[in-house]
Amino acid sequence: MGLVYVRFHGCLNDFLPAAQRERPITYIVKEKTAVKHIIEALGVPHPEIGKVEVDGRPVPLTYHVQNGDDIHVFPFDLEHTEASVIDPRFILDNHLGKLTHYLRLLGFDALYDPFWQDRDLALIANREDRILLTRDRGLLKRNLVRRGYCVRAHQPREQVFEIINRFNLRALVKPFQRCPRCNGLLEPVNKAEILDHLEPLTRLYYDEFDRCTQCGQIYWKGSHYERMLPFIEKILNYCNGNTP
Ligand SMILES: [Zn+2]
Repeated sequence: MGLVYVRFHGCLNDFLPAAQRERPITYIVKEKTAVKHIIEALGVPHPEIGKVEVDGRPVPLTYHVQNGDDIHVFPFDLEHTEASVIDPRFILDNHLGKLTHYLRLLGFDALYDPFWQDRDLALIANREDRILLTRDRGLLKRNLVRRGYCVRAHQPREQVFEIINRFNLRALVKPFQRCPRCNGLLEPVNKAEILDHLEPLTRLYYDEFDRCTQCGQIYWKGSHYERMLPFIEKILNYCNGNTP
């Protein structure tokens, strides 16, 4: 049928081999093909795409390419989008347990279950209109996935900064308000009400407690809190415009 030229912009280049980055890629089209198929065949999952233009005009992902088309593919411009529009509710795949823990600690709604398979993740993401976070491009290419993002960083703590930056979450970080264990919201609870559940030393040294409204787990400013505090402070510092 002919040739088309595909140029990826911005962070979409992360998915390409070095030789194809920041330049038009020539693609041979043998039959009637939607532009979405070509983009994904070149390695870029559709949830990462914000806009496609052909010869300067925006086209939908279902657009059937024509011989000689000059195709430009742009990422979502999330960094200039209001958080309320982005609606940052997440679901994470079973390799991102630590990132889930950190996102919940920072107050974000993040679903996770180590037993969910790819099909479950895609279904729940679709049904609840959640952003699917994964490092598996194949998972993001599933048709059911509307909102998703391929996490680039390998280290969980770096991933946290990446997600805050990518989804423009700086103003939304609210540490220690959500249960890292189950994603439920925390609420303050009277010490007298939970005395029977506390170890003797905890009972002696702490007076302020929160309880998860979902799983009942009790939290206080003990060793886990102390351990997490420097990291949380680093993130808050970053959210105030300083470098990580
Ligand atoms: Zn909980």
